[in-house]
Amino acid sequence: MNSEIIAIGSELLTPYRVDTNSLFLTDQLNQFGSEVVWKTVVGDDRIRLTETIALAWKRSDLIFTIGGLGPTEDDLTRECAAAALGKQLRQDDSLVEEIEARFRARNMEMPRINLRQAMVIEDAVVMKNRNGTAPGLWIEDRGKVLVLLPGPPRELRPMFEEFCLQRLRQLLPPAIILSRVLRLTGLTESAAEELAAPIYTRYQNPVTTILASPGEVQLHLRSRGKDEAEAQDPLEKLSSQLEQALGGYIFSTSGESLEEVVGELLRTQKATLSVAESCTGGLLAQRITSVSGSSSYFLGGIVCYSNAVKLDWLDVPSDSLEQDGAVSAVVAQALAEGIRRKINSTLGVGITGVAGPTGGTSHKPVGLVYLALAGPEGTQVIEKHYLGERETIRWQASQAALDLIRRTLAGKVQNGLI
Ligand code: ATP
Repeated sequence: MNSEIIAIGSELLTPYRVDTNSLFLTDQLNQFGSEVVWKTVVGDDRIRLTETIALAWKRSDLIFTIGGLGPTEDDLTRECAAAALGKQLRQDDSLVEEIEARFRARNMEMPRINLRQAMVIEDAVVMKNRNGTAPGLWIEDRGKVLVLLPGPPRELRPMFEEFCLQRLRQLLPPAIILSRVLRLTGLTESAAEELAAPIYTRYQNPVTTILASPGEVQLHLRSRGKDEAEAQDPLEKLSSQLEQALGGYIFSTSGESLEEVVGELLRTQKATLSVAESCTGGLLAQRITSVSGSSSYFLGGIVCYSNAVKLDWLDVPSDSLEQDGAVSAVVAQALAEGIRRKINSTLGVGITGVAGPTGGTSHKPVGLVYLALAGPEGTQVIEKHYLGERETIRWQASQAALDLIRRTLAGKVQNGLI
């Protein structure tokens, strides 16, 4: 049974409020093996809301609306749901009493407008609201279910847990959804798609989606089964086929960040690391040291922004700086070797580049970055060309440096993947 969620409220269409309730509901429904296949945000407008619920009722089996159950004129969900389903609304006297009692307990008289909250759609089961005045409604009709939930999260969540969980258990066959994220770096989204699509499109289960951010591509695999084993089996099969095809580009299959993966490789190989950063301004050191326990492998670094610091502190030859310029392969190499020598670490990284937006030339455009990794077996230098804003370029440079370390320690350089 697939699900649909309708978040109701004009405030959710402004820049100031976010529909977080649907994330909670999606997580809960997924745990029952139900996929949310439609999600709509609609304002407090009678016609649009009625249309939205009527459409959902036509195309979906399990529909949750959020909000619009309050006592005021703009709380229209009950009326619109009744109209969309062609059902009557009637006043529930026991609800009137309950709402009156809530007000009495606070030494107040119930305003007349709160009577709207005692209106119930015919055949609906009333879900009591222990944290507010707006009751929820559960309506089942010819195999379809419509659930009206209140908007405030502190009302919606307890109501869902108290009433909906048990009903969903009865309604939905036991099912489980397992997910896995393959995290990749060193290739573009389209290159990843080209390699992965011929494999994952052969599977209807798991469902695969690709997400890209600067310096990283993620493949999200979601597998469904009636129990753990039935969901696990195709997940393992697809995952291992993708791992084979994407090889060294995958840095994590169980959620670790690239800096954690690199940290683990350094720790297990008892290797130490130092960094000399120019255009990344310490970002690489920051990312490496964001991992707890990094003091066991990270010795330190220098932000060598000026030529004078490159020259005086890291012994970059003045000839190289003059002839090749600060942004060059030879300077990146000298930085990596210089920091490794000064700090006496197993590996040394050098980064130099043009982060922009100013400072680029036709010869050395914004986004040109040289990365070097010096180690016991020599020094590798790579040239990268990035597009984007200053922060994106800096981030991608730090990502490529981490990946260079990872591939070197994992013995993946010789595969020609860099
Ligand atoms: P009430 O009786 O409190 O008025 P209601 O069902 O009418 O309940 P709304 O008036 O629609 O709920 O929303 C009340 C508040 O709940 C909103 O101002 C907002 O803070 C929060 N809210 C509503 N919908 C959502 C949502 N989808 N995600 C997160 N918060 C929400």
